[in-house]
Amino acid sequence: MSMSLPPRLARLAGVIAIAAFTAATAQARGKPDPSPADLAAVVQEAYAAFKDVKDGANADYIPELAKVPSDLFGVAIVTVDGKVYAAGDVDYAFSIQSVSKPFTAALVMEELGADSIKDKIGVEPTGQPFNAVMAVEQIPARAVNPLVNAGAMAAVSLVPAKDPKEKFGKIIKWYEAMAGGVDLPVLKDIYASEAATNQHNVAIAWLLKSYDRFYDDPMTATDVYTKQCSIGVTAKQLAMMGATLANGGVNPATGKRVMKAENVPKLLAVMTMAGFYDEAGTWAWEAGLAGKTGVGGGIVAVVPGKMAIVGFSPRLNKAGNSIRAMKAIEHISAKFGLSMFEAH
Ligand code: GLN
Repeated sequence: MSMSLPPRLARLAGVIAIAAFTAATAQARGKPDPSPADLAAVVQEAYAAFKDVKDGANADYIPELAKVPSDLFGVAIVTVDGKVYAAGDVDYAFSIQSVSKPFTAALVMEELGADSIKDKIGVEPTGQPFNAVMAVEQIPARAVNPLVNAGAMAAVSLVPAKDPKEKFGKIIKWYEAMAGGVDLPVLKDIYASEAATNQHNVAIAWLLKSYDRFYDDPMTATDVYTKQCSIGVTAKQLAMMGATLANGGVNPATGKRVMKAENVPKLLAVMTMAGFYDEAGTWAWEAGLAGKTGVGGGIVAVVPGKMAIVGFSPRLNKAGNSIRAMKAIEHISAKFGLSMFEAH
């Protein structure tokens, strides 16, 4: 005699099994995915929570950056379906600075293959400041990784082009595609200010050249790098650039594939290890997200398959990372259990 259950009981057992499975999965994931209403609320919440934090100071080694109003503060999220959630000063164009570095590395990966970054620059974190000369001296890969100044300039040196004008044109067009087909400006005063004071970076480029780890003329490539750092982005635009990475290389607004899907996890790996320089460990601990900071006060963090989160605030800590931007992103990550180290 078979032991089959009567049909109604069998259906009930099935429903119970599915419910139990769903509950177990939700528990394993830590927290459920944030809804649109959650995201709309959390950007306001993070803005309000940290608006009055006055710690830190604008970068001033680039004189023009000291003039950016210190109280500016914006928080923006763009999801992989292209929805934008924003609070505060999210339409102010600030200089992208080092947040440009992963995007140029992405361009090099696209044009020359991901291994060009690993072989010709390196992918190890330095544990040292962004403009360290010692890292170049100590670490056998020399340029170290594409997210410190040495490696970022080496990445610019690798971008294939017949002259500096074409090189910069390719870089800005690439960023514009990442940002959803918008026009991005070069912030002329910031460019002039950094170009007049970038001798340290010029020295690093020549040092790399002496080790055969620079692939173009050090003077012109450093100038293209300086101009790249002076590209203006708003918090919303930067979040859209990050969302292209979160979305596996397809821009959520245009639906166009910008970069190869297989390069995205490699780029995010380098961002996780090196995006915050000598604060990468603290950042991994607090936020658990691939991210990149810049001395213009912008930070982009990427939640693969979900969203990008951007904070912008000019006051920096000693490592050159924006204090309120870090706090805002850490708050959002913790609230929704977005750390990559959660049991998703
Ligand atoms: N343009 C800046 C520099 O090269 C970028 C540094 C940064 O944002 N950490 O010094």
